[in-house]
Amino acid sequence: LKDIETINGASLVVENGLGLEEGMQKALGEAREKGVKLFTASEHIKLRKVGNGEGIPSGDPDQAVGAEDPHLWTDPSAMKDIVVALAGEISADFKVDLSKRRDDLVKRLASLDAEIASETAALPPARRTLVTGHESMGYFAQRYGFKLVGAVVPSLSSQAESSAAELATLKEKILDNKVPAIFTELSENASVADALAKETGAASVPLSTHSLPKGGDYFAFIRALGKSITDALGK
Ligand SMILES: [Zn+2]
Repeated sequence: LKDIETINGASLVVENGLGLEEGMQKALGEAREKGVKLFTASEHIKLRKVGNGEGIPSGDPDQAVGAEDPHLWTDPSAMKDIVVALAGEISADFKVDLSKRRDDLVKRLASLDAEIASETAALPPARRTLVTGHESMGYFAQRYGFKLVGAVVPSLSSQAESSAAELATLKEKILDNKVPAIFTELSENASVADALAKETGAASVPLSTHSLPKGGDYFAFIRALGKSITDALGK
């Protein structure tokens, strides 16, 4: 309720879009009707869609080829596009000059992107494999040349479920691709991921993919993400 008040009283609401704010759809729609300005981040990037042969086949429409992936924040270069668009929007709406802060942030994001690119490039290509809790790392994979082998929940949504047959397929793909680590995303299906890791000999590694570290900013978040991945796959 407090959130709804905050949204309705806001001068500008920034949302991710593409269904990420599932639980808030109604509140956001009502705010829009009331005339609250909304900025939808995913409208300002090159959208990633689920590609052929990606992950494991599942009946989930969220994992069908062509489904639009909302996890844009795992690619710092996409965030750059959003910063430019958002700075433009705020400048126009509130008549403030944000060009200096925009340029500074764009520069920092470009250097973060270069940093992760060089770190991940040090991994042998065969080790650039991702198995995650759900299919949340597509933008990262696309940017830095990783293969999306599969996910414990074969869907873009963490709310979906996996069947025994899907888990068996995933296990096979983990073995075929000699995947060194399974990244269990905090809170979801950690026990299933742990069991898969045991059965395949892969390490089970917690990975924070959807929330900023305590006291940390986006830069700390991406650095931690990159480091967990390169550490676990480089072993
Ligand atoms: Zn997600």
